[in-house]
Amino acid sequence: MTVSQPQETANGERFPLSRQRRNVAVIGGSAAGLFAALLLSRKGVPVRVFERIETLEPEARTLIVTGRLRQLLGAIAGKSVVNEIRRFELFTDGRTASVSLQSPDLVIERRTLIKNLAGEAQRTGATLELGRRFHSLQPNGRRLILEVERCADGSREEAHVDTVIGGDGASSRVAEIAGWPALETVPLVQAIVPLPKDMARDTVRVWFVPHDTPYFYWLIPESDTRGALGLIGESGADMRGLLEGFLEKRGLEPIEFQGARIPAYTGWVPVQRRVGSSWVYLVGDAAGQVKVSTVGGIVTGFRGALGVVEAILGGHAPAQLGTLRRELDLHLLLRRTMHKFQQADYSRLVDLLNDSIKQSLSEYSRDEAWKLLWRVCLRQPGLILLGLRGLLLGRPALRPARR
Ligand SMILES: Cc1cc2nc3c(=O)[nH]c(=O)nc-3n(C[C@H](O)[C@H](O)[C@H](O)COP(=O)(O)OP(=O)(O)OC[C@H]3O[C@@H](n4cnc5c(N)ncnc54)[C@H](O)[C@@H]3O)c2cc1C
Repeated sequence: MTVSQPQETANGERFPLSRQRRNVAVIGGSAAGLFAALLLSRKGVPVRVFERIETLEPEARTLIVTGRLRQLLGAIAGKSVVNEIRRFELFTDGRTASVSLQSPDLVIERRTLIKNLAGEAQRTGATLELGRRFHSLQPNGRRLILEVERCADGSREEAHVDTVIGGDGASSRVAEIAGWPALETVPLVQAIVPLPKDMARDTVRVWFVPHDTPYFYWLIPESDTRGALGLIGESGADMRGLLEGFLEKRGLEPIEFQGARIPAYTGWVPVQRRVGSSWVYLVGDAAGQVKVSTVGGIVTGFRGALGVVEAILGGHAPAQLGTLRRELDLHLLLRRTMHKFQQADYSRLVDLLNDSIKQSLSEYSRDEAWKLLWRVCLRQPGLILLGLRGLLLGRPALRPARR
């Protein structure tokens, strides 16, 4: 197929009208990569997924996502959903506020989610090649040659493909090789703990402790008896020490720890690059598609994958990516506002959460941030002043994007 007359999206990215799409390689068999593979194989596109882990037993991780997950995945979400959340309780400096959700957030188990996605992708025709670490790519005529290492014995093999999708996470090798600069990342650590007796299964607790982190601590129940208590921090922070101190204060014994570095979205990362005559795309954490206000990357990674697949299949300018970019930019604005908050600002924030604001917070999910912010500001102008103060005062929050 030939490439002609590019179309421009709201993002300013230019997508050609048609693409070579005969044969796609996805690097990274996790959430975003497998979702992209599944969408392509459903449309009859031959897809090979290269994943470095040897068996389909990815690390367990308790995650909270918006109900949008079910809209995107349908029945595939299935048993990965282990709990539903209907209320958030916010704590800071002796003050509390609680917000009910009209449509519940979902607590999911990452390992089950990935296994479900892998099963469905294979069922629709995608090939999953485990124990294969992507090493490099180079143009070869109108195609690309991938060099992949067999993790078992270190031997190398080649794959000839038309298009590559990098779903290989925050330290994406695909991005590095194709020329995208590295992403800023932040550390995230959480402990699985016994659920405190005074806590309901449908309620998440959030603590703002600016002395420890510009983000927050959370406790997400995954069942009647267990929850995930964690925090996001800044590079260089003693995350494990902070978390252990927090657990000790609450008399909670960790059962296990989970953690990794997550991209800190500092600006939109163009999702495509030309290598020779072929196209290389990024999805999920590899493209920094993470809501930086809460460091949630599952649903946004799926939306990024959807946009990239639309681009590959249709060759048209995908609206999905424009919407995703606006959402991620708004979460960046929120993060920049709150990143400089001191204890007094959090106390005022909790005090300002009057009944009408709680109503807005309960009506709109984090995937509808623009609507939510607009309604909240109309109902409590004091929050605008607090936000402006946060933006104007203090040290710069997050460094600008390097991509
Ligand atoms: C402790 C913790 C809690 C979190 N909580 C939440 C939450 O509550 N809600 C939420 O939405 N998000 C949460 N996140 C973030 C979320 O997990 C990530 O945004 C999401 O998993 C990213 O998915 P991904 O598919 O883009 O990348 P990843 O899940 O990072 O997958 C990348 C895949 O690529 C593979 N890979 C890497 N390099 C290569 C290579 N060279 N060759 C072949 N394969 C390769 C890896 O093995 C991996 O399988 C959390 C993250 C952590 C660490």
